[in-house]
Amino acid sequence: MGQPPKEHSYDVVVIGAGVIGLSCAWRIAASGLSVAVIDRAGPGAGASGVAAGMLAPATEADFGGQGLLALNLASAARWPGFGADLSERSGREAGHVQSGALTVAVDRDDAEELARLHAFQLDLDLDARMLTRSECRELEPGLAPGIAGGVLTPEDGFVEPRALAAALAVAIDADGGELIIAMEPEIEVTGGRVTGVQTLAGPFKADNVVLAAGAWSAEVAGLPPEAIPPVRAVKGQILRLRASGAPPASRILRTPRCYIVPRAGGEVVIGATMEERGDSHVTAGGVRELLEAAWEVLPETDELKLAETAAGLRPATPDGLPLVGRSAIDGLILATGHHRNGILLAPSTADGVAALCNGQAMDTALAACDPARLVAAPRVEASP
Ligand SMILES: Cc1cc2nc3c(=O)[nH]c(=O)nc-3n(C[C@H](O)[C@H](O)[C@H](O)COP(=O)(O)OP(=O)(O)OC[C@H]3O[C@@H](n4cnc5c(N)ncnc54)[C@H](O)[C@@H]3O)c2cc1C
Repeated sequence: MGQPPKEHSYDVVVIGAGVIGLSCAWRIAASGLSVAVIDRAGPGAGASGVAAGMLAPATEADFGGQGLLALNLASAARWPGFGADLSERSGREAGHVQSGALTVAVDRDDAEELARLHAFQLDLDLDARMLTRSECRELEPGLAPGIAGGVLTPEDGFVEPRALAAALAVAIDADGGELIIAMEPEIEVTGGRVTGVQTLAGPFKADNVVLAAGAWSAEVAGLPPEAIPPVRAVKGQILRLRASGAPPASRILRTPRCYIVPRAGGEVVIGATMEERGDSHVTAGGVRELLEAAWEVLPETDELKLAETAAGLRPATPDGLPLVGRSAIDGLILATGHHRNGILLAPSTADGVAALCNGQAMDTALAACDPARLVAAPRVEASP
């Protein structure tokens, strides 16, 4: 006869060790609460380990409403402090570089689109400068000679999501949290209140459970129907190329068909397809589409080594905004649905969720993420 499973007890259990779950767990641990983050695979095993890592609210301005833009800008403003704290606690770097981004028009159709985007960016008071072809090529000599112009957004930048996930795992440990991998928990609810999760290693009791399982958030075992988040998978294929020396560009390059993220070590990331499907196969067509789109703007990509192809599943919601906040089940907090911007939105989300776990209100910038707009609202307002 073996020993009965040990009962573990925490203030908070986080389900999912993507960048969202890890960031939440770290900020919760740093606030002095006990926390365990549980993942069925490992840290960064989902979309976070595939993502390009752009922190690019200005170039993303076109992809959501103004609600998303405001969220993106608020989280981008938190990134420098979040990154500095993280490197202090973990002794590791997440590779944060404010490189700027250049959105390039390859032909006349792109140029019309770009003029419209630029006017929109100016209306929103974003720092966005229209550049001629020769100004673009002065900044980025590797650009194709025939391009029609570009818009420079100097405040955009990027991190390295795999390094970020690794740093977060170290910081969680440094602040007394636990990371438990290869385990698939089942949420336990009694009388409309979450009591923790059940696992093969026994129960993990907790006052709060944070659901951060990315594109799989609706499928986590034990979720009561009224708390199931309307999250669907949007597949993205992405390539990693390798230059033997410096990469052929020094800032993010973007066209309507792709983006290119050059890292100092010589890695060049080309992304990403947007496909309404939930498999993570890399397809010949996806790779061809991305290579062609990169080649037309930065021909030198043809010469680089193709080091990796991958596909990830973005967690998308019906209105394009994430779900961050309390659910109808007391103690069950949602932190999911970050779609194209989970890396960018990690600092705001983590601080908001840590505030909730400490009985405080979230920053008002997160008001638009209130799950009550898409799932049942909490039965009673949580006392502050
Ligand atoms: C190709 C691509 C490029 C992208 N580029 C960018 C970018 O440049 N900038 C940006 O901000 N965002 C980008 N994104 C979006 C970003 O990757 C996501 O928004 C973000 O990673 C979501 O993080 P997450 O932690 O919610 O989910 P994930 O990273 O998917 O993590 C979810 C975790 O939950 C675990 N899990 C699932 N079910 C269970 C279960 N039942 N029990 C236990 N664990 C479970 C999984 O193993 C996984 O580790 C990109 C996405 C893709 C696909």
